[in-house]
Amino acid sequence: MGYTILIKNGRVIDPDTKFDGICDLLLKDGVIEACEKEIRIDPDMKVEPEDSAVDEKAAVSENTADLTAADKAAEAAEGAGAAGQKTADTETTDTKTAEKPDPEGPYTIPGADRIIDAAGCYVMPGLIDMHVHLRDPGLTQKEDINSGARAAAAGGFTTIVAMPNTKPVIDSPDRVDYVTNKAHNAPVHVLQAGAVTKGQKGKELSDIAGMKEHGIPAISEDGKSVMNAQLCKEALKVAAELNIPFLDHCEDANLVHGGCVNEDTFSEKEGVPGIGNEVEDVIIARDIMLADKTGAHLHLCHCSTWGSYEMLKKAKNDGMDVSGEVCPHHFTLVSADRIPGDTNYKMNPPVRSEKDRAALIKGLQEDVFEVIATDHAPHTRLDKAGTLQEAAFGIVGLETAVSLTISELVAPGILTPMQMAEKMSSNPARILHLENRGSLAPGKEADVVIIDPAAEYVIDPKTFASKGKNTPFGGRKVQGVVMYTVCGGQVVYEKRD
Ligand SMILES: [Zn+2]
Ligand SMILES: [Zn+2]
Repeated sequence: MGYTILIKNGRVIDPDTKFDGICDLLLKDGVIEACEKEIRIDPDMKVEPEDSAVDEKAAVSENTADLTAADKAAEAAEGAGAAGQKTADTETTDTKTAEKPDPEGPYTIPGADRIIDAAGCYVMPGLIDMHVHLRDPGLTQKEDINSGARAAAAGGFTTIVAMPNTKPVIDSPDRVDYVTNKAHNAPVHVLQAGAVTKGQKGKELSDIAGMKEHGIPAISEDGKSVMNAQLCKEALKVAAELNIPFLDHCEDANLVHGGCVNEDTFSEKEGVPGIGNEVEDVIIARDIMLADKTGAHLHLCHCSTWGSYEMLKKAKNDGMDVSGEVCPHHFTLVSADRIPGDTNYKMNPPVRSEKDRAALIKGLQEDVFEVIATDHAPHTRLDKAGTLQEAAFGIVGLETAVSLTISELVAPGILTPMQMAEKMSSNPARILHLENRGSLAPGKEADVVIIDPAAEYVIDPKTFASKGKNTPFGGRKVQGVVMYTVCGGQVVYEKRD
């Protein structure tokens, strides 16, 4: 009866029910079936359909016993299923079923197709990355939907949101369909965000309502900002009407003037143009005001400045519907960590000062930032070749997010494992309105990640499933290993030694 996976002895961390404790988790037919202190296998146990049939009969006969002799006679004459009786019977059966498992006794099943021992591991709802670049269509030498989805599975993610700055830009229902169709056989759920403006040219809005009908969970102009404030305001209004979030890449195009790393003494010493905090902060300030005016859910992408923390905190205190994400590289690195000239440290926004990093970490701890997202940005070796000014922006992130989050935030006690599960699963699910994900409650989708938080390893880009090997974290010793990723009730990744 359907495919079952029994995950035993793990530390189940479910941000939806706030449960954090050792227990067993049963997955069946693609949904969470049960989470119990102990789920025991008894091969001699009778199979379920017989069981429930017997129970129903017992309930009916019990119910019949309450009837008067006259009623009994009438029912006997009419036969078993009198229509008027049905509701009462069902109610009785429900009550009986609820009482059936002895609350003191173990939950028993006849068997499982797969049993995973998760002792010593976190068992969390499958991780959700709200911000990845899959480069498909048009840039598949960097990544494609399948390679990106395999990288996601290896990183513990079961749902990813692809940004629309592909070639061509995803700005119409047809192009959303292209991704959805191609992602059909991917190992994880791939969602596509729609572009805010046609061709991301910033001139006129794309068919946002049409794309919503074809499944986009959000809109974004990622890669740039919608610089025309009036157009941005109109887009926010549409997002509010359609009840989808606006994923905001905050970067004032007029203030960047060729900057490629953080603007500070290091950029000065290297003689390369820098990107000041104001490049990000002025758009954050503007868009918070526009979101307030329109009532849209504004979600700030890849926050990197101390100003983003201050402004987001204030907007939340003012009761606004805003949220923000921080990427692992921004809470792990500062500008001083950069190896001069090494283009693997070039990303947008850049890694900044210790003051900025401290504010991001504080904001994560205080839940001002409720999402950790990767901004996974794969590139070819050639794209990252040349000088800091020549090389493309961005680093890969799907396969290092879990270990960096555990090493930098959970192991040092800055975040609880529950907060990690919230920021990497349940909060993105809530923001994107994915009602059946980000939870381990019975009936939800069987998307699960099993992580050994103590296991240490050295990051080796050569082992990445992603086509992109562009990371500054190669050779870094970290802790936290994804052991299994289960998506839709199937194991889509497992760690092999
Ligand atoms: Zn961006
Ligand atoms: Zn991005």
